[in-house]
Amino acid sequence: MNTDYFKNFPDQNGLFGEFGGSFLPPALVEQFKDITHSYLTISKSHKFISELRSIRKHFQGRPTPVYFAERLSNSLGGARIYLKREDLNHTGAHKLNHCMGEGLLAKFMGKKKLIAETGAGQHGVALATAAAYFGLQCEIHMGVVDIEKEHPNVIRMKLLGANVIPVSEGAGTLKEAVDSAFKAYLEDFETSIYCIGSVVGPHPFPMLVREFQRIVGIEAREQFFEMTGELPDNVIACVGGGSNAIGLFSAFLDDPCEIYGVEPSGAATMTKGRPGVIHGFKCYLLQDDDGKPAQVCSIASGLDYPGVGPEHSYLKDIGRIKYVTADDYECLEAFYTLSRVEGIIPALESAHAIAYALKLAKQKKYQSILINLSGRGDKDIDFITEKYGFTLEEMKARFK
Ligand SMILES: *Cc1c(COP(=O)(O)O)cnc(C)c1O
Repeated sequence: MNTDYFKNFPDQNGLFGEFGGSFLPPALVEQFKDITHSYLTISKSHKFISELRSIRKHFQGRPTPVYFAERLSNSLGGARIYLKREDLNHTGAHKLNHCMGEGLLAKFMGKKKLIAETGAGQHGVALATAAAYFGLQCEIHMGVVDIEKEHPNVIRMKLLGANVIPVSEGAGTLKEAVDSAFKAYLEDFETSIYCIGSVVGPHPFPMLVREFQRIVGIEAREQFFEMTGELPDNVIACVGGGSNAIGLFSAFLDDPCEIYGVEPSGAATMTKGRPGVIHGFKCYLLQDDDGKPAQVCSIASGLDYPGVGPEHSYLKDIGRIKYVTADDYECLEAFYTLSRVEGIIPALESAHAIAYALKLAKQKKYQSILINLSGRGDKDIDFITEKYGFTLEEMKARFK
């Protein structure tokens, strides 16, 4: 890696090596150019930077701490585990980092409405929060199946003033919701802006979302160094689309740290996918024999995506980051363990990163491991306890 990495990746066409780019309907090409231009000018202005800083501090509650998980570490026989506490960010996860950036950009661009899709509802809630803060309208497209499944998040979005649009086409889940949100944006691009939920989608979104998430890594690197006088030996995060991961990893690309992105075994895009195009960009993609995006399945709905960010696809190919997997059982083990041992209930997504760290700790006996705890687990507790009970032992007995 070198120091001008962030200037050159993505390049002017939005490419990270062969990945990324923008595959758009002709009517949207100019709109996306306009978003790129606005982002590259507005977000570098003093006014934008100081307003975003103030929001981070006073509304979101940043910086979030880095925490030494002492009891968990003691149970491992030598390795030291540190958690970057994105679960303590307002709304309980890292997603607000880019949603506040997207909302502020919309405000500076004079837009009136934010449009997006949501799967499990996490992005919808974070974006509805940003819209409420900036006094913008918010339209969230969501599959009817997901609306049924993720009821508490639908309530939250409505309380925050968002208009939740049910999408009944196809399977009624995330993919159809994306198509529907794109269509709505196409009809209303003068007054609205499309706000994607991760480092995915057509250029400039993988870049824009990365830049808004870099705060996680910038804080964590400084905090870790201040606590220990060293840099972490290993850095770990879970990867769905890859926004919390790239946020943390981006600060360590030039450092002598091993970096691991953890995917669920049921949506292991990086280990089992091959290059393809989805939702307007090229990336590693799980696809069936006809090249269509495959059905994926993970206990963590936030990681249930057959594609992955183009930058992760590139960083895999050049060998800078290792992409590994954790399965549902390992994720649950980590979920119960962190809750009981440290008093922190993690999101099921984040529990994948913890799970891999627990494996790694056995091989890297006297090393430090910094994990991005991307979100808190409140949203998962009803589902988990009804299905698996309240203790690790009960879970082990019930798991099939
Ligand atoms: C959405 C979500 C993720 C996955 O998204 P990325 O873009 O891969 O970060 C991970 N953790 C939590 C808590 C989430 O809500």
